[in-house]
Amino acid sequence: MSLIVQKFGGSSVANAERVFNVADIVTSTYKEGNNVIVVVSAQGDTTDDLIDKAKEINPNASKREMDMLLSSGEQISVALLAMAIEKLGYPVVSLTGWQAGVLTDSNYSSSRIRKVNTERIQLELDKKNIVIVAGFQGINRYDDITTLGRGGSDTSAVALAAACHADLCEIYTDVDGVFTTDPRIVPEAQKLDEISFDEMLELASLGANVLHNRSVEMAKKYNVNLCVRSSLTRAPGTAVKEAVKVEGMLVRGVTKDNDVARVSLCGVEDTPGKAFRVFQMLAKKNINVDLIIQSIGRDNKKDISFTVQQTRIEETLELIKANQDVIGYDDLSYTTEVSKVSIVGAGMVTNAGVAAKMFEALYDAQININMIATSEIKVSVLIDQGYEEKAVKAIHKKFELG
Ligand code: ADP
Ligand code: ASP
Ligand code: MG
Repeated sequence: MSLIVQKFGGSSVANAERVFNVADIVTSTYKEGNNVIVVVSAQGDTTDDLIDKAKEINPNASKREMDMLLSSGEQISVALLAMAIEKLGYPVVSLTGWQAGVLTDSNYSSSRIRKVNTERIQLELDKKNIVIVAGFQGINRYDDITTLGRGGSDTSAVALAAACHADLCEIYTDVDGVFTTDPRIVPEAQKLDEISFDEMLELASLGANVLHNRSVEMAKKYNVNLCVRSSLTRAPGTAVKEAVKVEGMLVRGVTKDNDVARVSLCGVEDTPGKAFRVFQMLAKKNINVDLIIQSIGRDNKKDISFTVQQTRIEETLELIKANQDVIGYDDLSYTTEVSKVSIVGAGMVTNAGVAAKMFEALYDAQININMIATSEIKVSVLIDQGYEEKAVKAIHKKFELG
């Protein structure tokens, strides 16, 4: 007998018909003699709708209250799915994150899972129940409800799979698996049969929302047997694992990310420790800095530009303004009218010319590059907003990924 974790995203449970489709997948797996833990997200656009409702009342609502609100979406889904499974005549129980023992830190709206107490789930599995758990949510040490960040139900599923030593963790979504790029932007995109944890982690972190980046981080750490597949076609999907065959494929995927803003500090004193001060300050607040450019100093002054998540721009600006004396700069400016486009592939590290080929694709498409960052397995560029889809298409074509 195997233990299987199955996660279903918002579109997979969007309406009654879809809920019964999911109930059918779950009960089929159960009928085959498996123990099944199911993780579900909020239905369709529920989470976005709840955010809009909050904005109507208070655009500056505290993150604690936002978590209280947003977690309700998943609570609806678990109950409805359990009702559907009851109707099909199978034993089932739905649990909130708290009931399922999901303990997190207190970083409201982007909490990390600290621990999963599996006693209750185990008890329910021993009773032969199908266990439905609300994704995206947990509780902190003050017994407050927390959420894991947008797309966080994937992470709930992988965390439960790791904690319960599941044999398999299936992430069901509305596409057939992980593709060379978003198939909604580039219809010629190819489904990958497999992808390594490292490549998937980069793709997820650089904007491919098919998996939450922390779910990949956790799957790698605990070596979870992970796959992404469609709840609609039920085709085999993509295996995400430690090592994969590299069939001469230099670039695995192309992504775009619009949740990015560029901050520029001009006239920073050209002495040691300036960059350190700025980035340490941001790190303390958990604000991730991505692309960075520092100009060559002249007249004892230099400029530093970097990108942060657009959703963190207000906090970033406030922090830098409040510390103008400590940092020492003449001028602060920012823009949110930028996008990041990236290529990812483990084969890049041993191949010269991959970055050049990407830049050529952008040149052919007459798209200007504002900033560049590279690592062993990725190249990212910052471009003006509005050109990202054109860029993705041009790069995808250049590397013949279609
Ligand atoms: P769910 O609600 O099931 O969690 P998401 O919307 O979070 O689904 O993620 C699935 C979506 O991710 C797809 O519909 C697709 O548009 C998008 N996506 C972006 N990049 C990729 C990629 N490289 N491969 C597959 N899907 C991708
Ligand atoms: N419902 C949450 C969101 O929309 C979590 C998830 O879908 O994974 O972000
Ligand atoms: Mg998702």
